[in-house]
Amino acid sequence: MTFLFNSDARRGAVFAEAFARDLPEVAFVTDGAMVDPDAVRYLITWTVPDNLASYRNLEILFSLGAGVDQFSFDAVPATVKIVRMVEEGIVRMMQEYVALAVLALHRNLPTYLAQQRGGKWLDIPQIQAGSRRIGVLGLGQLGQAVLDRLKPFGFPLAGWSRSPRQIDGVTCHHGEPGLEELLAASDILICLLPLTEDTRGFLDADLFAKLPQGAALVHTGRGPQLDHQALVAALDSSHLSAAMIDVTDPEPLPAGHPFWSHPKIILTPHIASVTQPATAARAVIDNIKRHRAGLAPVGLVDRSRGY
Ligand code: NAP
Repeated sequence: MTFLFNSDARRGAVFAEAFARDLPEVAFVTDGAMVDPDAVRYLITWTVPDNLASYRNLEILFSLGAGVDQFSFDAVPATVKIVRMVEEGIVRMMQEYVALAVLALHRNLPTYLAQQRGGKWLDIPQIQAGSRRIGVLGLGQLGQAVLDRLKPFGFPLAGWSRSPRQIDGVTCHHGEPGLEELLAASDILICLLPLTEDTRGFLDADLFAKLPQGAALVHTGRGPQLDHQALVAALDSSHLSAAMIDVTDPEPLPAGHPFWSHPKIILTPHIASVTQPATAARAVIDNIKRHRAGLAPVGLVDRSRGY
């Protein structure tokens, strides 16, 4: 029984050590050319390899990342479980990034940075956290974790998901009517939706128009969810005040793209949250143990929903 690791050597060394210690009965292999394809039961990778069909006994395809939008589900036999990465390192980093972004936008950092470059010493009237409403699109592992991290600051918190949710201290909305309610009451909107056919191009001019005047955006979902031109237009018209953007399409952005120099945009190169090898290895090993005990792995993807 073999686990095939298809990623970089640095992460591979951490995984190899964890497997040797905690799951020695499963052979750990990093070189696909050195493995008997019929022995491969588990594969972890960022993209689906061309020779996936040769692993006829594959049981679980693990994504190295929290999303699975980079996988073409059609290329994965229906008998194979697809499992995305749910691990505490990713969660912690996303909590940090969103807290950073929300505080930066709440405290008008993009304007102060622009003023600094222009040699201006001017203060902006500051509203209190209790009057700055936060709305999170997506109430999954990450959406819930960032809401939890934001609680001590005293922002009114709300979120939106496909199915109904109940979260202490958070006003939860769902479905189409719920989206309108959430948008109308979000002074800072955070996107933590998975990329699916339903969410591609979701952050567009119509959606921005439904946000309150002066609202701000934090985008940490996936690049193809955001209409770049619509964002620039909403910022230039001052309907939106600022944005902190971590994911774009394409990545990296080409030279001269307006996001590089827009004074109301803080841009980061898809670093909000990155899989941490030690905690990821532990999560994958726990999932293999769950699977072998007849339990569903944590992060099991529902192919019909696309996430
Ligand atoms: P998750 O646990 O699968 O949660 C997804 C949430 O989105 C759920 O609440 C789901 O609703 C909701 N949702 C999905 N489609 C929807 C739709 N059409 N309408 C309304 N709600 C919808 O995912 P996660 O672990 O929180 O991760 C979310 C995403 O964050 C990932 O897919 C990835 O794209 C992104 N991410 C980005 C970075 C980065 O560095 N920028 C790092 C990690 C992850 P239900 O609750 O009803 O299912």
